[in-house]
Amino acid sequence: MKITDHIDKSKSTLFSFEILPPLKGKSIEAIYSAIDPLLEFNPAFIDVTYHREDFILKPRKDGTYDRISTRKRPGTVAICAAIMNKYKIDAVPHLICGGFTKEDTENALIDLNFLGIDNVLALRGDNKKGDRNFEAEIDGHQNSLELIHQIENMNNGIYIDEELINGTDTAFCTGAACYPEKHADAPNLKTDLKFLKRKVDAGAKFLVTQMFFDNKAYFDFVKNCRDLGINIPIIPGIKPITKKSQIMQLPKIFNISIPEDLTEAIDKCKTDQEVEQVGIEWCIGQCKELMQAKAPVLHFYTMGKSKIISAIAKEIF
Ligand code: FAD
Repeated sequence: MKITDHIDKSKSTLFSFEILPPLKGKSIEAIYSAIDPLLEFNPAFIDVTYHREDFILKPRKDGTYDRISTRKRPGTVAICAAIMNKYKIDAVPHLICGGFTKEDTENALIDLNFLGIDNVLALRGDNKKGDRNFEAEIDGHQNSLELIHQIENMNNGIYIDEELINGTDTAFCTGAACYPEKHADAPNLKTDLKFLKRKVDAGAKFLVTQMFFDNKAYFDFVKNCRDLGINIPIIPGIKPITKKSQIMQLPKIFNISIPEDLTEAIDKCKTDQEVEQVGIEWCIGQCKELMQAKAPVLHFYTMGKSKIISAIAKEIF
């Protein structure tokens, strides 16, 4: 079922979450043991991230290095199919531009369509490790807008092979990412919003936000979107702080800020357990307020911490 149908049919805020494919060589049981503790909260859908290749340096005998490309977390599409098969819950694969030619994308979408996967989150994808800027494949997409166009074309039976006529119309419900505190590459929030509007006009049907720790950022962002004519569901992405080091790391990695009150509370903690507890309590407070404001879904970035997400969900669902 489409994410938009899940939202339309529900009278209350839905629960969903995101998981990462396990590292190469690990069993799919790692996925199931991340999902199982969260089933009792009736997830409407489960997102599975996509990870492009990384480079590792392999030493040669002569002391120089070979730069080897490797995908450390393959398996997104197969994991989505496995989730839908085992749990009968909609899985949402993330599809990225990085590392994909347009033909690779088309083939991936054909696979998803054959597997009965209705939803996809269309993203540019992270930069290659160590790269300051995003580098697309020679025949790949530069940004998520171009990817959304390709998906929308397939929804209208238009494939990249121009000689192909009467192509089957797919029916993907496409989501896109958005950034209440601005994407790092955007010169300012207004320009970022204008680009977001283009993604929506191109066919995005729902948005998922970057994590934020101050609900005001989300509420202001939703208002700005509505003022600009972006009227599709804006799903808040939620992550509890689980380690002291995240106070410094998360702002750098995700271009977000952490409120002073939360920073001070975490700073005072003496043990990892105390940090977790502060993170959980803050997150519960955020979730309760978002629910009161009728957020369509609370979408949790689990990051391998299903037990913590479960402790939060118990208090709110
Ligand atoms: P885009 O929408 O292409 O653009 C990002 C920003 O760049 C825009 O907001 C805009 O400010 C600017 N921009 C780009 N092109 C233009 C233009 N032509 N004109 C003006 N401005 C422009 N990464 C992964 O690798 N795998 C994942 O599974 C993954 N999942 C994610 C899930 C969510 C909910 C979020 C929020 C992020 C996720 N990411 C993932 C990270 C994401 O790939 C990065 O944030 C990436 O840098 C941007 O992706 P995007 O789709 O928002 O990019």
